[in-house]
Amino acid sequence: MADTATSSSSSGGGQDRGPRRDSRSGGAREGGGGRKFFRRKKVCKFCVEKIDSINYKDVRLLSGFVAERGKIVPRRLTGVCTPHQRRLSEAIKQARNIALLPFAARF
Ligand SMILES: [Zn+2]
Repeated sequence: MADTATSSSSSGGGQDRGPRRDSRSGGAREGGGGRKFFRRKKVCKFCVEKIDSINYKDVRLLSGFVAERGKIVPRRLTGVCTPHQRRLSEAIKQARNIALLPFAARF
């Protein structure tokens, strides 16, 4: 008679500890998952195509680096290298001045 009481109580305590450990290790994994999305080998488009001077009249080219609102897309998203990003942003600014591209639009 005494046997049944002790066995049921001890098994209940053991079950409580088991699942807790599992959920902890699973939660730690989730933290690093977000980065993988943009992790792709990106090479500067202008370096690949060997474009040295970016023509501000080439709106089709420039518009690929301008967000919908007219903002210049940061190079960490486009993969453009620093020297080319500088020329690109200068070209975009010139294009804005002659109204080929919009300034940051107000919404
Ligand atoms: Zn480049």
